[in-house]
Amino acid sequence: MRALTVRPGVPDSAEIRDVPEPPESDGPLLVQTLAVGLCGTDAEIVRADYGEAPLGEHHLVLGHENLGRVLAAPSGSGLSEGDLVVGIVRRPDPQPCPACAAGEWDFCRNGRYTEHGIKQLHGFARERWRAQPDAVVRIEPALGDHGVLLEPTTILAKAWEQVERATQRGAGLTPHVAVVTGAGPIGLLAALLGIQRGLEVHVLDLVEDGPKPELVEALGATYHSVPLPETGLSPDVVIECTGVASVVIDAMSCTGRDGVTCLTGVSPTGRSLRLDVGSLNRTAVLENDAIVGSVNANRRHYEAGAQALARADAGWLGRLVTRRLPLEKYADSLDRKPTDVKVVLTVSDEAAGS
Ligand code: BGC
Repeated sequence: MRALTVRPGVPDSAEIRDVPEPPESDGPLLVQTLAVGLCGTDAEIVRADYGEAPLGEHHLVLGHENLGRVLAAPSGSGLSEGDLVVGIVRRPDPQPCPACAAGEWDFCRNGRYTEHGIKQLHGFARERWRAQPDAVVRIEPALGDHGVLLEPTTILAKAWEQVERATQRGAGLTPHVAVVTGAGPIGLLAALLGIQRGLEVHVLDLVEDGPKPELVEALGATYHSVPLPETGLSPDVVIECTGVASVVIDAMSCTGRDGVTCLTGVSPTGRSLRLDVGSLNRTAVLENDAIVGSVNANRRHYEAGAQALARADAGWLGRLVTRRLPLEKYADSLDRKPTDVKVVLTVSDEAAGS
């Protein structure tokens, strides 16, 4: 069967290859891939900045944002042929550490977790894959093709959970104003979840045209194309979704009293910036600020993410996917256009039915 693979460590080694059917040892659930979404992590893996092949292999099947249809499910698994499912990206470490043992692999303590399409487990950019039934989440048929947005949504479901936990540090810290930095898919989904929580949401990005400003306004949020200090805002919450160093510093230093900054963007390293650490620290201490990093997601976040997508306007979700290309056109999909929000590769001809 066809798969989009890379040789981790070898830049620009992405290619469509013929790979064997998934072995039965991967699990009794057989899934046909409908689509995979591509993100910055995939681009990093293609550039050989990130990613590891399964132990003893040279190639890694790419793709962690995914949507599939069950072809065969064991009885008693709660899944049936035809169900729409999303494979969970991270799998617990084999030990398992206390976090993984509690199903919170997103907080894995020893780093021996694996991730489909990223770290030591093949991804979903192949025609079929197998898994244990508890390694997938079933989604409502009504979500259809939009189910491919679930994995990125889980990242924000976890980020908002972290923010909510940080607002439990003191009495009356209920947030009212949230800023999201970056209007890519992660930023837009962060804004969606903020609006769903009843917050006043502001989204900051550099671009002044293209689909991003209107996607933000359509949510009922406000779009700004200036840096955070220039907005005059003093937010209770900032969800940082760019990983750009100067934006990260603004996100950490511009919150209001008792503010919470949640960092979700993975930055490139090796660039330095002048920073008044004393000022950043002084403000953070005197204002009880919390700065939290957040990565990955566990099953609870997949379930919360699926509920958030089900509550969202289907037309708005549809507009997030600005290009859908067949698997063979993977090179075009990695070549980002200014008008791109989310680019999706269709793996099977069958539409999910939205
Ligand atoms: C994925 C996460 C993953 C992280 C680090 C992100 O792109 O969405 O699931 O944990 O990369 O590998």
